[in-house]
Amino acid sequence: MEDFTKIKNILGPLRVFENEPLYKYTYFKIGGSARLFFEAKNVEDLKLALETATEHKIPFVVLGGGANVLVSDQGFEGLVIRNRAEGVKLVGIKGTINKIGKGIKSALVWTASGTLMNQLGRFTMDQGLEGLEFLLSIPGTVGGGIKINSHFEVEKGEFLGNRLVSAALFDSKTGQVKNVDHEYFNFAYDHSKIQKTGEVVLEAVFRLDNSPDPGALWQKAMDNVKRRNEEQPVGVACSGCTFRNISVQCAKRLKTPNLTTSAGYIIESLGLKGTKIDGVQISTHHANFIINTGGAKASDVIQLIKLIKEKAKRTYNLDLKEEIFYVGNF
Ligand SMILES: Cc1cc2nc3c(=O)[nH]c(=O)nc-3n(C[C@H](O)[C@H](O)[C@H](O)COP(=O)(O)OP(=O)(O)OC[C@H]3O[C@@H](n4cnc5c(N)ncnc54)[C@H](O)[C@@H]3O)c2cc1C
Repeated sequence: MEDFTKIKNILGPLRVFENEPLYKYTYFKIGGSARLFFEAKNVEDLKLALETATEHKIPFVVLGGGANVLVSDQGFEGLVIRNRAEGVKLVGIKGTINKIGKGIKSALVWTASGTLMNQLGRFTMDQGLEGLEFLLSIPGTVGGGIKINSHFEVEKGEFLGNRLVSAALFDSKTGQVKNVDHEYFNFAYDHSKIQKTGEVVLEAVFRLDNSPDPGALWQKAMDNVKRRNEEQPVGVACSGCTFRNISVQCAKRLKTPNLTTSAGYIIESLGLKGTKIDGVQISTHHANFIINTGGAKASDVIQLIKLIKEKAKRTYNLDLKEEIFYVGNF
């Protein structure tokens, strides 16, 4: 068995756990154990853990909120870094603040990457800043959100990446931190460049405009929560949408109703809504959600994903692509 004493000494012997079950840290409530597990409590912690893993050539993975991952039943043979580096603050203001505290035109907001998106959304609304109120109903951290370019109403341009100005990334290939701007990420629907590079977000800065009607921000955010609760399953173990929506070209080719690009529509039209395999089921509420009905294994989820993909290919010649990320060997 490998000797991890050095790693433990660097990160703190009482802060590194061996064989820690990972299901506890995922929304799916599925997954085996991490060989080593460490919780980063601030950006410095996160950086140190990443540098240590890189230097000692130990495979690592960063977990944010665990809202968009499927962890293998065999767990992860390396260091799992749970990112709890939280913090959000105003770092720049454009405009002048008058006696009653008004007059800000736009502001720069800094966040540590382990900050919950929900927390970032709340902070910006409390400051009367608009543009990220849709985050109130999205689980997970800013780092995980940047990787997938978290979104709500796509047609209205509600993407996390649209507001990002700059970020600090850790690159395990060089062991260095680099500062990058918005363009670096090549943001698109469910896409950012770091999905390919594997770089880790340490911190990020967002630019937001002052809202002409700050009171309406919370109303809009609450309306979103209400809508989500009506349209999606609530209070169940799942990882949100399993598949990315299809392209507009595919929607045109398939002549979907109102040219919907919804992967949920596709799965429902395949007659798969409600399908069960052992501990998992395609939600009867929203067909793009796979639910752990109790004691599910990652292999059950994989079987269901395979079934959906095969039927989509056979019926529509469509290659559905997962939105969730895999952790460990599959
Ligand atoms: C009920 C439910 C509803 C959802 N609704 C939405 C929705 O409306 N819109 C939407 O966009 N998403 C939605 N999601 C998906 C999820 O909220 C987002 O994908 C979110 O960005 C996941 O963040 P996380 O911190 O939990 O990431 P994790 O699940 O922890 O990780 C996801 C991936 O990001 C990587 N990662 C994590 N932190 C970092 C970092 N700091 N730097 C680099 N990579 C990192 C991980 O290694 C992994 O590959 C939903 C999920 C659930 C469970």
